[in-house]
Amino acid sequence: MSLYERFEKAFMPNYGVPPVALARGEGSRVWDVDGKEYLDFIGGIATSSLGHAHPALVEAVSKQVATIAHTSNLFLHEPEVLLAEKLLGLLNAPARIFFANSGTEANEAAYKLALKYGRREGRSYFVATENGFHGRTIGALSLTGKPAIRDQFGPFPVDVRFVPYGDAGALKEAVTGDCIAVFLEPTQGEAGVVPPPEGYFEAAREICDSTGALLVADEIQSAIGRTGHWFAHQADGVIPDILTLAKGLGGGMPIGACIGFGDAGTLFDKGDHGSTFGGNPVSCAAALAVLGTLDLDHVKSVAARLRAGLEDLRHPLLKGVRGRGLWLATVLREPRSAEVQKAAADAGFLVNALQPDAVRLAPPLIVTADEVDAFLAAYPAILTEAAK
Ligand SMILES: *Cc1c(COP(=O)(O)O)cnc(C)c1O
Repeated sequence: MSLYERFEKAFMPNYGVPPVALARGEGSRVWDVDGKEYLDFIGGIATSSLGHAHPALVEAVSKQVATIAHTSNLFLHEPEVLLAEKLLGLLNAPARIFFANSGTEANEAAYKLALKYGRREGRSYFVATENGFHGRTIGALSLTGKPAIRDQFGPFPVDVRFVPYGDAGALKEAVTGDCIAVFLEPTQGEAGVVPPPEGYFEAAREICDSTGALLVADEIQSAIGRTGHWFAHQADGVIPDILTLAKGLGGGMPIGACIGFGDAGTLFDKGDHGSTFGGNPVSCAAALAVLGTLDLDHVKSVAARLRAGLEDLRHPLLKGVRGRGLWLATVLREPRSAEVQKAAADAGFLVNALQPDAVRLAPPLIVTADEVDAFLAAYPAILTEAAK
């Protein structure tokens, strides 16, 4: 029986059977179980920030697992303190941190933190965006604006009102003095890598300031260098009240973070929240290696090269490109992203059919100019194959 058939038999059918079984990786390259080589332009969904088997990550994780792998939150350890301090330094604003294991858990923490604020202030509802994605656990799912994955699991404990993403007028109308918090991605990821119009995030900050609602920036996909900045909100010139991180932070090791700025950092009282694995020493060591290794100038330079190359590309199937940094969607004129993903894999490139008409590119942040050029050289033929 093939690995694919064994997968199908052993696992719940929620993922379907993935089309490629990966065996190993090095840098931006991966090999499948049959030895076929691919350039990885999706990076485990914008997560393998240092690519695969990066020496700094290997050393940090190996050393830590051989020293102490787990303490639980009954005991503290130095890697978590170092990581929290490092993140606070990069954030450059007074804040406090809670570590979780994933994106959805980071958002659950944000949700509970905001609820504490809401109960204290007598506020009653959240605002989030249509097509926004915040995770799959019930709290995060209740904020997720995708009826197909959300509605069958409702009703949810808190009233969440959805507004069209990027429309500051609609946001202003929806957020009153009764609103607890606004959950926003600085650029929508799962919706198709959709940046908002200029000034939207700033407008959201102003709306929250004038109504007293908390601004929660879900930067689970957009932070840790993905846009060429440590955090996307820094490029937007906005400080949120609550920030959530995960994906790229651990370079593939599971870690999430919920960060409260100013007063939002002290909303939890002792015992309000917790996680046995959250801030695990091995994941913290991995994240320290990521933060200590990433070179934002490199990210900016290869991102500009990739974007310019895609913008110069003329192909009947290609409508355009959108996104920020090393986080782009090539937008198609026809809903053929699944065919593009398949043709790309056949040609030795991993990309992601994110929406029927949008193909996501989120290569490791260590991708080289030569690798970007190799992708750009191959993409027209991939599109042609997909258009057949
Ligand atoms: C991926 C993602 C999540 C969920 O993260 P998980 O680790 O899969 O739980 C939440 N918000 C955004 C913006 C994401 O991209």
